[in-house]
This record gives sequence, structure tokens and C-alpha cells, in this order.
Amino acid sequence: MAMLEVKDLHVHYGVIEALKGISMSVNEGQIVALIGSNGAGKTTLLQSISAIKKKTSGEVIFLGNNITSATPKKIVSEGLTQVPEGRRVFTGLSVYENLMMGAFLRKDKAAIEEDLQKVYTQFPILEQRKNQDASTLSGGEQQMLAMGRALMARPKLLLLDEPSMGLAPILVKEIFSIIQEINSTGTTVLLVEQNAKMALSIADYAYVLETGKISLQGTGSELADSPEIQKAYLGG
Ligand code: ATP
Repeated sequence: MAMLEVKDLHVHYGVIEALKGISMSVNEGQIVALIGSNGAGKTTLLQSISAIKKKTSGEVIFLGNNITSATPKKIVSEGLTQVPEGRRVFTGLSVYENLMMGAFLRKDKAAIEEDLQKVYTQFPILEQRKNQDASTLSGGEQQMLAMGRALMARPKLLLLDEPSMGLAPILVKEIFSIIQEINSTGTTVLLVEQNAKMALSIADYAYVLETGKISLQGTGSELADSPEIQKAYLGG
């Protein structure tokens, strides 16, 4: 059964229609990738799902519940958390305080502590830097902190917006292997990426967005082998 279902979603910025009828789904346990060039609407799609951006029409169903008009807070509490583009962390707060912000809707103290230890195991650098101001972290470390903070909400579905953006190739590899690890421990992942090659290599299923519409879809390997995709997104 689909964990997330998006049905005929239309979204506007003023008179500009950024999403022109998107229908897609994410099955439980999968890594699903959204690829496409700049301005295709990938960020808009994630933000509409998590209610950061207002929808014009269409439906979003999560775990059988219609969350089309739900607030961002309600959506997080149902188990859907987004890591925004550009690894936004709270500067002026320590790494530890940033992580705890991710758990702000939870009251299960023992489980929060358990999840904090899990995050520290997954990202040892965050434990080493736990008392430092988040602004002192490198770009890669801030991406890890943004992901760790999202995991502190104990999401069932994690939305990741361009996790590899601006990172050195070695860090890109590390981030992708962490995404696979997060997925293998039971979190479903919907991933937006410019780096189509890496995204398709870990995706169970992927959608290609072109100017607000889905132009192609298939398993990660089907799309990676498609001549159209190779030409447009994989450099020949
Ligand atoms: P990128 O990889 O550059 O983030 P994207 O695929 O995520 O691209 P979106 O950022 O979702 O694309 O943008 C989709 C369309 O909506 C683009 O035409 C963009 O110019 C437009 N758009 C995005 N944000 C706004 C905004 N705040 N106001 C007006 N138009 C916007």
C-alpha cells in the first residue's frame, strides 16, 4: 500500500503554475527520488506535501489520512518530516539544542534520549561537536545536523531536499550512504536531487519532473538505463 499518495496536485506562485497536476506515490520502506532540472518544481512539490506551500487543488494522502489541508505541525506529528534545502540550522544554538528542536512536539523523554543516541551513532561528528554553536559547523556537518534534527521527530517518511547540494564529492557519497542506512532502519525516504546519477543509484523508484509535470517514471535502474535520461541528466 502507498504510504504517501499525491493526486492531481496543482500549485501556483501568483499567476505562475509551478505544479500542473502531479500524481505520484511512495510505498512504505522505499527510497523514492524526484529528479529534474532547475525550476522543474521539485522543491515546490516537497513544500506542498509538507504544507509549507499552499496548494491550489489536488489531494495528499498520508498513511490513509487526507492531509491536504493539515497544518505543518499536524503533518510532523503524524510522522512526515522535511529537511529543507540549504541545510538550514538554527545558529546561536548548539548542535545538541538544534537536535532537540527536532523533538519539540514529542513528550516521550526516554524515547527522545534513545533517538538522540541513535543520531549520535549515525553521525559521530555531531556528538563530538554537540556543545558548539551550529554556525561553526562545515557545510557537510550542517547537512548532517539538519538530517539528524529531522530524525529526532522520529519520522515514518523523511523528505530530503537536495541533501548533496554544495558538498564535495566524498561527502556526497557519505550523505548518500547515510540516507541508505536511515532507510534500512525503517524510515521511508522521498528525495529531491540535482545529482540524478547518485539519486537513481539508491532509488527504488523515481519520478522525473519537467516544468511542473511528471515526464517519466520507473525504477531507479530503469531510469538510469534510459537513453532519454542519460542524455538529459546523466551527461550522455
Ligand atoms: P531548484 O532545483 O532550482 O530548487 P526546483 O525543481 O526545486 O528547482 P522550484 O523551486 O520548485 O523548482 O520552482 C518551480 C517553479 O516555481 C520555477 O519556475 C520557479 O521559478 C517558481 N518559483 C519557485 N519559488 C517561487 C516563489 N517564491 N515565487 C515565485 N515563483 C517561484
